[in-house]
Amino acid sequence: MASGAGIFFDGMTSTRHDVAVEAAPDALRVRSADGTLLAEWPYAELRAGSAPGGVLRLIRNGNPVLARLEVRDPELIAAIDHLADTLDQSGRTERRNRKKVVAWSFAATVSLVLVAIFGVPALVERLAPLIPMSVEHRLGLAVEAQVRAMLDTGDRGGQPFECGLADAEKPGRAALDKIISLLEGTAGLPIPLKVVAVRRTEANAIALPGGHIYVFQGLIAKAETADELAGVIAHEIGHVAHRDGTRSVLQAAGLSFLFGMLLGDFTGGGLVVIAAKTVVESAYAREVEAGADLYGVHLVSKAGGDGRALGSMLERIAGTIEPGIKILLDHPQTQQRIAAINAAAGPPQGKALLEPAEWAALKRICG
Ligand SMILES: [Zn+2]
Repeated sequence: MASGAGIFFDGMTSTRHDVAVEAAPDALRVRSADGTLLAEWPYAELRAGSAPGGVLRLIRNGNPVLARLEVRDPELIAAIDHLADTLDQSGRTERRNRKKVVAWSFAATVSLVLVAIFGVPALVERLAPLIPMSVEHRLGLAVEAQVRAMLDTGDRGGQPFECGLADAEKPGRAALDKIISLLEGTAGLPIPLKVVAVRRTEANAIALPGGHIYVFQGLIAKAETADELAGVIAHEIGHVAHRDGTRSVLQAAGLSFLFGMLLGDFTGGGLVVIAAKTVVESAYAREVEAGADLYGVHLVSKAGGDGRALGSMLERIAGTIEPGIKILLDHPQTQQRIAAINAAAGPPQGKALLEPAEWAALKRICG
């Protein structure tokens, strides 16, 4: 049991009493020089009053008399702090809040200076690659919930938004997993992928920040080979690898969002909505799409598939995408994109990524 000297004010007179303080396991006891028990305070009822540095000033919560105890011995203070959860927590919360305010003020200042020097778009270009993957992962979780709510609409006759969950759909899910693990194993991404097939009729796919990829049922329906589907998924993996989703979210939602991310604070619910709308609705620039195409072609080829399949898939779905949702391709650019894809792809390797039975199962992943 830790003990030491303290100064006690009984709250009724202004006399200061030199006392012995005992930090017993069950309660804090205050004794006068002759050993008389002056106070016995349960730890749960202790509260720290404001005091100069190095002094712990304790009062008892709800005590009608304003008795207080002051302790200066650092070891005794540490022992009391350890035993009294409420003291410890209030101290930590306060320290955390103080740190947060300092961090935010610093971030605000830095952002003003950086915006003045670079402007927002150039700044985001520079900062996006520096954002830790752990932060992007958290952003992905926040955005994914919102995107799901935006896309999960319409009457599906009681079927879930996500495909591949029912027993009859599980072989399809297994076939999709095979494609994903082939591509992911080849890609060597710094963040794990989370790919789901979802019940949306458009021939489309979307990559979100944090490695989430949504493959729409309509895309699986339009694909004629596993390599065509793999080509589109690999294109989306290109967006993940290049962190295009994170970058576009930052461009749209602004720097406050960036600093919110860096501080791990996504409390701005409105910003998550902006982020989700950006991911779903706004198209990437042509160079960004071209970058994802090249990445996708090389990835499928390296994984042993046909890199050109992405081009044939794009050709088939050209002009079929409904407006209002981010499109997989920009119609006037389709022929140029296909030419670039074919130029980048090596000769076909003559071996599909899936066995015919696996591909047939994957076609039925949404029932
Ligand atoms: Zn794209």
